[in-house]
Amino acid sequence: MRLFFSILLVCSLSFSFASDLEQAPQNFSLGNAPAVFVDFQTAQMDVVFDVSTRTAQSNVKVTFYQPASGYPIFDLVPSVTGLKIDNKVVTAELVQEVSSPDSSARFRAIKKVLAAGHHTMEISYQMNTKNLVFSGGGAHFGTFMSDLSRRTFLEQYFPTNFEYDQYQGNMTLKIDNASYEHRVMCNGDLKSLGFNHFSIAFPDYFTTSTFYVHIVNPKQMTIVEDVYSGLNAEIPLTVYAKSSSLAQQGMTNLKKFMKELEGTFGAYAHKSFVAYMTPGGGGMEHCGATITSQWALGHELTHSWFARGIMSANGNSGWMDEAIASWRDAGYPRPNKLTSRSPVNLSAYSEYKRHTTRLAYSKGKTFISELDYLLKNEGGMRTQLKEFFAENQRKPINTSVFERFLQSKSKQGLNSYFSRYVYGKGADLTSQEEPSETDSVCRPFSEEELADLLY
Ligand SMILES: [Zn+2]
Repeated sequence: MRLFFSILLVCSLSFSFASDLEQAPQNFSLGNAPAVFVDFQTAQMDVVFDVSTRTAQSNVKVTFYQPASGYPIFDLVPSVTGLKIDNKVVTAELVQEVSSPDSSARFRAIKKVLAAGHHTMEISYQMNTKNLVFSGGGAHFGTFMSDLSRRTFLEQYFPTNFEYDQYQGNMTLKIDNASYEHRVMCNGDLKSLGFNHFSIAFPDYFTTSTFYVHIVNPKQMTIVEDVYSGLNAEIPLTVYAKSSSLAQQGMTNLKKFMKELEGTFGAYAHKSFVAYMTPGGGGMEHCGATITSQWALGHELTHSWFARGIMSANGNSGWMDEAIASWRDAGYPRPNKLTSRSPVNLSAYSEYKRHTTRLAYSKGKTFISELDYLLKNEGGMRTQLKEFFAENQRKPINTSVFERFLQSKSKQGLNSYFSRYVYGKGADLTSQEEPSETDSVCRPFSEEELADLLY
């Protein structure tokens, strides 16, 4: 029995490395050695906020599997002050910011050759990051993100990996010398370890784009809690806002959208949902969480099915999230016939890119509606998306997985459509510049808006 269990465990672990790394970008040469994409297994993120000195010290220990000898790749925006590799102190200067070979993306590599196999890295740094403010005798911190700009997932705050990688994240937050007891809003299992001391265990299917943590002063927020009876489970819902009416209205709408989306795409994928309602702006999705204005709530909740229910594995996959959610926002339009359009590049950018093209909201939405027409005899796209979600929920996927799935459903073949309207065949692909369309629902909150939203 024991042996059987061990074999099973070994098999499932090896499978996990293989499958996470399957969607990683190509390793590349960096001076004297290859830079190697790795597979995070666990990340223990510990932060101590000191309200009296207005500082926050973060210490993060990551266990990871490296498939080949070389410099391990990860990302973290703040500067590193302390580093241990495999429990030995080494100079923090080994953590360097590097460019992808095509110069389209920047991230970190540790310039120390590590052998293939399992390793640990322990990284210390000051959290002098965005979205951290000390005021009114307390700390205000939010892991707010954007999928529309560079390096704006978890790497803004904590060492993390590219989007292909799922790992078990645990966090402790300690707030010293504060004048009130804080509350932590998050999408993991929260426990109190004492006065202003918290731990969070996040689900093991999370990736860099998913973590939601917001430390608030409960006196400044109205927090409304309820339970939604979902198709498969009772789902605890939390909606909070600075205004009581915004929080109440948000909860009413959230339950309405939950019913709509479970009815359309199938049972909700996460354990709970938390929404921070803002008086204006757009919104941003996390797994089972959002920060959003009232008008974007339905769109952001749709992302708990597409974007953060099925997760994008890279920047060339994010178009699906916005295309599907925008198609839903528009009421699932289907054209009466197809007319030829100019080719569009939604998914043929650099493999190192992590952000989504804004063309997804417009041209991507049009493409989904055309697929709805092309698959109308197979039940249309709502039927296909429901099945696709059932097969792929809680997994990072790339465009080719979506394409293969739809190809298997289509009698007439979709190659030429994907080629022209997703991979931009016939368009000028020499320019990797982002179009600057402004019709995005998930438009990023500006830095001023976020500073205002923090507390
Ligand atoms: Zn969106």
